[in-house]
Amino acid sequence: MHQDIVHSEILMFGHQARTKNCFARWAVDAVKETKRICHPTVATRLLDAFLHLILVMVVPLFSETEWKRRLNGLPAWQPDCAPTLVVVPHPDDETLAVGGVIAALRMMGADITIVAVTDGEHAYTENEGLAELRKKEQTRALEKLGVAEHKIVRLGLTDSGVATQEGDLVARLGTLISAETQVFAPWAGDFHPDHEACARAAASVAHKVGAKLISYFFWTWHRGTVATVEGLALRMFPLNEDMMEAKLGALACHASQLRHEPEPEILPENLLWPARMPFEVFVL
Ligand SMILES: [Zn+2]
Repeated sequence: MHQDIVHSEILMFGHQARTKNCFARWAVDAVKETKRICHPTVATRLLDAFLHLILVMVVPLFSETEWKRRLNGLPAWQPDCAPTLVVVPHPDDETLAVGGVIAALRMMGADITIVAVTDGEHAYTENEGLAELRKKEQTRALEKLGVAEHKIVRLGLTDSGVATQEGDLVARLGTLISAETQVFAPWAGDFHPDHEACARAAASVAHKVGAKLISYFFWTWHRGTVATVEGLALRMFPLNEDMMEAKLGALACHASQLRHEPEPEILPENLLWPARMPFEVFVL
């Protein structure tokens, strides 16, 4: 019985944590604590459960082929050439999910402000200098997408802790969003607590002032299934060659996420296909 409870708690945490590094840090502490208070057999089973979960976290639940079958025939959509603000939880999200739209809008001459919510400093356990490195990578990536450094507003909130600073985020966004702003923000179900907090904050400000809100997602491709997005108003934005070139150039700038030793990289090759599709998917 006790083991069932431990199992369900781990599963619940795994569902909430959603990133393997955050999970791994917690798992080490949890196993130590379990060894202290429980029979060693329970700790061993706990370890098995962790290994299974970490595997599930790294391996996408739904294949690229299955997703693409679902995306077939999705209605096409175009963003407005209007003052635009993009809420970006971590350096790389601006590229992975919305890089094509950013490049397209800049090519059309739209004014774009990027709100870099965190510096992504907790992506890895060994993180000395990581925030500075990721800020530089993001600045270079945005340059590839046509956005100059002075258009990046860095909030410096805590990576993996945005939900605890949501009030601050709402206040900052409130000074940057007006009724005329076209706002891009993560989708509220995007399987990462920071993405979800950014989604809630952006939605509350956009609704208050009457701004148009468009949602994007990335982790949903890997942690969700087709059923996760059932019923959402999904739209597809096709990317031409110039937009693709800008987006892939920007992706290459995030080197710290693409290759890493000794911990596994955050963005291994098998997670990158959604960022390489010749279109982007949004929730209206
Ligand atoms: Zn992110």
